[in-house]
Amino acid sequence: MELDQIAEGFVRLALKLNLYDEGFVDAYFGPKGLKPAPDPAGASSEKYNQLLSECRGLLEALVKMKKESRTRHLESLLVAAHARLEQKLGKEFSFDEESALLYETVAPQHTETELQDRKKKLESFVPGSGDLTERFNRYREQFIVSRNVLPKVFEAAMAEARKRTLEAMHLPKQERFECEYVENAKAGWSAYNWYLGDAKSTIQVNTIVPIYIEQMIHWASHEGYPGHHVQGILRDFELYQKRGWIEFSIAPLYCPSGILSEGGADFGVEVAFPGNDKLTFEKEVLYPIAGLDAANASEYEKIMKLRKDLSQIASIEAARGYVDGRLTRDETKRWYVEYALEHPDRAENRMRFIDNYRSYIINYSVGETLVRNFVDQKAKSSSEKWSVLADLFATPCTPQMIQR
Ligand SMILES: [Zn+2]
Repeated sequence: MELDQIAEGFVRLALKLNLYDEGFVDAYFGPKGLKPAPDPAGASSEKYNQLLSECRGLLEALVKMKKESRTRHLESLLVAAHARLEQKLGKEFSFDEESALLYETVAPQHTETELQDRKKKLESFVPGSGDLTERFNRYREQFIVSRNVLPKVFEAAMAEARKRTLEAMHLPKQERFECEYVENAKAGWSAYNWYLGDAKSTIQVNTIVPIYIEQMIHWASHEGYPGHHVQGILRDFELYQKRGWIEFSIAPLYCPSGILSEGGADFGVEVAFPGNDKLTFEKEVLYPIAGLDAANASEYEKIMKLRKDLSQIASIEAARGYVDGRLTRDETKRWYVEYALEHPDRAENRMRFIDNYRSYIINYSVGETLVRNFVDQKAKSSSEKWSVLADLFATPCTPQMIQR
């Protein structure tokens, strides 16, 4: 079997798996002819077993190939699909085993003492007295973007992130995005980018939970520029169309590239808005459009930075405890409230994310550190960060490959 045939085999396999495991494929913009017909009969062990043996066949053919970046990337996709199929057939992996197979990464462990220490750091900065979670959520209310001005605020953030990205990198002329505001109670995510092919994306904002001013630029960069929308364009145009590598016409959700995508999207915020740029733009442009008082903007940013240091590790430990059966559902929710300072009404929403995505949660913060280390090591100036970041999505890459 030739390498191109193995790659096509993977695309066919992933599209078939997606018939039964909806959401396995996050985006597909390859040949329509590879898409299987819908199967109204639905999933069965027999079908998963069939796919598993197809997957093994492709892996066996691949190990005979020369080890270079394209084969290594393809192998990582097949290993992840294999693990996902085994899970569908009832095999149980621990949180760390799962993340190692799906994302080639195990998240560092953090003790409860560490969480308490980080919580203490935050205590003195949040105005008021009493329980920190309650105090934090009350304080944060003054930064809510109301639903009627949300599109105006978010689209101003998108326009700025896009402008900065287009100044730093070339994108195809037809490139564009659309924003949609949805109320999705089941999803567990708050914003999502759907890459549609031909440099187009739909970006959805989920209004089921309150939206805060600092999320505007974060999402504009993460979902759009230079995040998922731009990542999609680079894979599509540079790897699939230019090189003809068909495995890049598909983006499976649960695979090692996932950690680079999420980590790169989070890290992209500071590439597009370095130093104080985010805060300055928020104060000068976004707060006024949102009708919010910018007087406390700097204090709020500091508090949110400390909260991020706490909630990122708290969220991973909560998910790890829950998936591994050490924490019950209620205990996990309490953990979110206590250490991620989540509003008790929104802890259920956090659970939905964990129910749906499990160890995927590590991709954000662990991925951000991974991509930051890589980019900071390679880029000689802050303007060079753009090209190093773009290269990550314009070359076949896996987390293991960028760690050395
Ligand atoms: Zn994302």
